[in-house]
Amino acid sequence: MLSKSVKTCYSGVKNVCRGGQVLSSANARMQHSQPQEGKAPPSNRPETSSAKTLMDIGTRRIFNEDHDMFRESVRRFWTEEVVPYHKEWEKAGMVSRELWQKAGEQGLLGILTPEEHGGIGGDLLSAAVMWEEQMYSNCSGPGFALHSEICMPYISNYGSKEQIDRFIPQMAAGTCIGAIAMTEPGAGSDLQGVRTYAKKDGDDWILNGNKVFITNGCMADMVIVVTVTNREAKTAAHGISLFLVEKGMPGFQAGKKLEKIGLMAQDTAELFFEDVRLPASALLGQANKGFYYLMNELPQERLLIADMAIASSEFMFEETRNYVTQRKAFGKTIAHLQTVQHKLAELKTEICVGRSFLDNCLQLHAEKRLDSQTASMAKYWASDLQNSVATRCLQLHGGWGYMWEYPIAKAFVDSRIQPIYGGTNEIMKELIARSIVSQK
Ligand SMILES: Cc1cc2nc3c(=O)[nH]c(=O)nc-3n(C[C@H](O)[C@H](O)[C@H](O)COP(=O)(O)OP(=O)(O)OC[C@H]3O[C@@H](n4cnc5c(N)ncnc54)[C@H](O)[C@@H]3O)c2cc1C
Repeated sequence: MLSKSVKTCYSGVKNVCRGGQVLSSANARMQHSQPQEGKAPPSNRPETSSAKTLMDIGTRRIFNEDHDMFRESVRRFWTEEVVPYHKEWEKAGMVSRELWQKAGEQGLLGILTPEEHGGIGGDLLSAAVMWEEQMYSNCSGPGFALHSEICMPYISNYGSKEQIDRFIPQMAAGTCIGAIAMTEPGAGSDLQGVRTYAKKDGDDWILNGNKVFITNGCMADMVIVVTVTNREAKTAAHGISLFLVEKGMPGFQAGKKLEKIGLMAQDTAELFFEDVRLPASALLGQANKGFYYLMNELPQERLLIADMAIASSEFMFEETRNYVTQRKAFGKTIAHLQTVQHKLAELKTEICVGRSFLDNCLQLHAEKRLDSQTASMAKYWASDLQNSVATRCLQLHGGWGYMWEYPIAKAFVDSRIQPIYGGTNEIMKELIARSIVSQK
């Protein structure tokens, strides 16, 4: 078992581990050359374009050796704890609760959330390792990234001490699963069109409405619900608040699991709120500031979708490279055909160009310098690339690519959602265009 020690596999902390074995940092330092103080070391880590495979450990100059050791542990988690059970979970339409707790025990939830709040206190790049390794495992079931890097930051950044103490340690342990509910049947891209409404009643609020397409919707113990609280506000955006709604509250119900074309092991559901009485302590941050909080947090959501899109492309490329070097036609492997070779060259080039931009975005975000339009560019471009890669890689598999037993089939259907959620790619272009025109 990897144990709690994995928690300590982040750069800048005391211990690091390799293969589940904890090494003191002094010990680790003896094994790896350390950067000179005050001067960035020249990196001789290969970029993915020069590496043996696009998923190699020890590559990309944004990472260091501590990240590599962490990646080894994370890769083992996905390989041993998720891959063998994923088919079962696809049939069930959701993963097991035990998996969430295992991830919690191994320090893989809430990596970015500060330690003093009950999170892991790791860096952005460690969180990215977790996103990327999920895509390399081709297991889209566990909604960990949404829980850890979309939901937890709202509580950590805007929650009261009471809310932080109540939810963050449990979320990091995997005993409280989080979801965020923005979308409604009549309002998706147009977030200001939400109708779910909370009316003040003394100190309490009474919540009514419904949400749709909510990731982790059936399993969630706590849902961040985007709600109108002031219908008379000067604009809709000025009248929106966020509430923390808990499973078991009278009037709150998760509807049926929605039947999707992909993400088969992920529970996506409708949520219903009928006269749910919420105490004042369920309000997240200040009343009517919800839209502002959403605008602050959405770039991180878009960045993680983008990073996962490039990682999925890297996975699909490697699957396809393996396939074409084994599949025979006309007496030779199809990798001998020049048209196939050119296709591989195009794919690799495009993915490496995408990886380079994404690594730049990850670095910028780690330094808190990633702006909203750049995050939108990454989300739109990387998720479109992922779909184009999926189509071309499936084609190179021929009829076998259309068969569920081949990983490329799953990667292909799972890719399709990426340009849609987290703000559609059309909305991303709106946001990018707005910044272009307003800068003139
Ligand atoms: C599997 C899955 C998981 C999801 N998870 C969550 C979740 O956890 N939480 C959550 O809140 N939501 C979630 N969503 C919802 C998702 O974010 C929305 O589906 C998405 O924002 C689009 O909204 P919509 O479906 O209402 O489409 P619409 O807004 O109706 O858009 C329809 C089409 O019109 C285009 N369009 C709309 N407005 C414009 C415009 N101004 N300019 C140009 N084109 C436009 C869109 O780009 C799209 O092509 C999920 C969806 C799915 C399918």
